[in-house]
Amino acid sequence: MSSPPVRAAALLLLALACLSCQSTARARPSGDPAALRYNLTYVTEPEHALDVEVVLVRGTPREFLFTEPGGVDTVHAWQESGTVRALRVVDGAVAVPSGTRFLRYRYALDARIREQGPDLYAGIGEGDARHVAGREYLIRPRVVTPDMRVELYVEGTDALLPWVPAEGGLYRLRGEDLVDSGFHGFGGRRCRAELPDAVLEVAILGRFPHLEDADVCAWLRQSAEEVRTVREAFPHPYITVRVIPVPGRRGPSLFGMVLWSSPPSISILVGQEADAGSFERDWVALHEMLHLTHPAILPRVPWLSEGLATYYTEVARARSGRQSAERAWEELLDGSARGRRPARGRTMQEVVTSGGFSGVYWTGAFFVLHLDVELRRVTGNRRRLDDVLELLARRGTTSTFGGFGAAVDSVAGQPLFDALLARHLPRPAFAELDGLLEALGVTVGTEGVKLIPARDSLLRQAVDGRRTRGAAH
Ligand SMILES: [Zn+2]
Repeated sequence: MSSPPVRAAALLLLALACLSCQSTARARPSGDPAALRYNLTYVTEPEHALDVEVVLVRGTPREFLFTEPGGVDTVHAWQESGTVRALRVVDGAVAVPSGTRFLRYRYALDARIREQGPDLYAGIGEGDARHVAGREYLIRPRVVTPDMRVELYVEGTDALLPWVPAEGGLYRLRGEDLVDSGFHGFGGRRCRAELPDAVLEVAILGRFPHLEDADVCAWLRQSAEEVRTVREAFPHPYITVRVIPVPGRRGPSLFGMVLWSSPPSISILVGQEADAGSFERDWVALHEMLHLTHPAILPRVPWLSEGLATYYTEVARARSGRQSAERAWEELLDGSARGRRPARGRTMQEVVTSGGFSGVYWTGAFFVLHLDVELRRVTGNRRRLDDVLELLARRGTTSTFGGFGAAVDSVAGQPLFDALLARHLPRPAFAELDGLLEALGVTVGTEGVKLIPARDSLLRQAVDGRRTRGAAH
């Protein structure tokens, strides 16, 4: 501890330094004096930018970094001695000198958009609204300890960050929230989709001439309701969704993505010319929300996570009645055909390790379908894949691949996952599809898909039958 006179001198120097630049670290609110404090200012003139100030506390680590390097090249360190040092960001990293009181830098949003082209991560938006991923512009300590506390405050506009703000708009976060900081929206308009067990806070980041904001929220609510046909409840009591227009396009959702912040954050690109009717056949919002029903598989296994979301995208829309069971199977068959073509007789193993987008998604979806059917077969249709997701959710927000398989076996009451996978991996992708469809009573004629009685057609009806809730028995 420094003696009182020394501290007074340091404060005086700091005050002088601040006077000299007419700028001071903003007052710490009544909040947590031991928390790292982030003050964000959304700047609109002369163009959009984010000014970031980080007020350090005793014991703050000195190594900082941008999770995604490239967006900021200089950070200013304001020292207790009154001097300001410009620190170059090298490979995304900054070593903060001792005696630093706070850091300041600007993330030049519009300049980044000009350089990179509009992009969900580096920046995109319209009018006074902008969208950016936290990892692009938020500096953070390289090492984040479990007890690290963070406060974050946004000025200059209404922001939609992944977290629930406390009273007065202050976000109280953990250090790890700076690591997985999700998607951020600034400005725009708001609507809200309310479910019996969850709230979706939505930011609309631009103009949609043929849509009311309420149409956007009704569409997202419908998708969220469909997620509830897979799980006992919506997987998170609160999530945020940012909707960004893409000029000149009519398609409802052109692209969507979920980031594993806590809670997760979703952002979706929507054609600016879309109208309310075009959401009827949309699957992107549902697909992204269905990723919330399974744990993040670490290390990543895209064919499994995408397979789960892709399979349930069709099944959930049949359960809700948005599409008929026949239509759901048509979609599953069309997708399998799209996956089969590029697979060209290669094994599932080859497709999931080196296949393109369709191959990975639809090979995964077909395996997941088979897994769901096998679970139902071995348990006399009493247990199902929904139960596996429920079990995994009780175990945490992440799982290993092995943990996923173990959960399947636990629900099945016998070893199942590894054996089914071992059967599929060395054989040509989709080799078992025709046999499985026949057993389920899914036939394709000149008039499309027909569903007929067959050995396992009761299992099929349990998959695609109408319902409003998921695994609850
Ligand atoms: Zn996906």
